[in-house]
Amino acid sequence: MAMFYDTHAHLDYPDYEKDLPEVIARAQTAGIVKMISIGTSLSSSERAMRLAEKFPSVYAAVGWHPSEAMKAPSGLRPALREFASHPKVVAIGEIGLDYHHLPSSQGGTAEDDLRCKQRQADIFQQQIEVAIEAGLNCIIHQRDAFDDTLAQFKLFAGKVRGVFHCFGESADRMRQVLGIGSLVSFTGIVTFKNGQNVRDTVAATPFDQFMLETDCPYLAPVPYRGKRCEPAYVKEISEVVAQVKGCSLDELSAATCKTAKEFFRKL
Ligand SMILES: [Zn+2]
Repeated sequence: MAMFYDTHAHLDYPDYEKDLPEVIARAQTAGIVKMISIGTSLSSSERAMRLAEKFPSVYAAVGWHPSEAMKAPSGLRPALREFASHPKVVAIGEIGLDYHHLPSSQGGTAEDDLRCKQRQADIFQQQIEVAIEAGLNCIIHQRDAFDDTLAQFKLFAGKVRGVFHCFGESADRMRQVLGIGSLVSFTGIVTFKNGQNVRDTVAATPFDQFMLETDCPYLAPVPYRGKRCEPAYVKEISEVVAQVKGCSLDELSAATCKTAKEFFRKL
């Protein structure tokens, strides 16, 4: 059986409170042998580390999500530096910029939006700097903010790499990401009926420059679309990606696992 990794899962979310051991066991059975639980705040990052200590197949990424930027403490560096030294912390993330839910979408002013964007950029910067100090790469989240995210991260190209996760952008934007030495990763959206644009980007992405992920509990692939997602479903994602790339599951397994091991050195 071809083995795969889930490089982006939110295993600390309450969705898995009742049955996480079963979720992890189902992943193993499906050939998903390693998974990275992603931090979205300091407490979420700590939970991810505790899960990594408890389950041999679970690793952690630590970081503060841009959507929660206004709730972040002014200095994230000391806590993140400490977390980064954990033997199973493989990356800083998820970090980046998210302009989809700015304050004006909930009755705020243009000035509120500006302050929120500045705060997001500030914590993004702090976390990139910690990643560089710690010798870790970054898991990048962006929504409706591709150009600003790429521009800010590009300033550090050569010192640190990022994976632009849940990649749903055009092939041209994929090439811009690869152009700064970063990578992309694809979710269950590749299996959606309306996911042709993502399949086109998958087709155009070089075989050694992408990884697979679920972003669970979100984005369950077909035939589970709309249900709670879990790491086992990387299997369904891998089948569609192999079809799009015209390769065998074994070839896809070898390429994506090698890419992930080089990118997440402690994996
Ligand atoms: Zn995520």
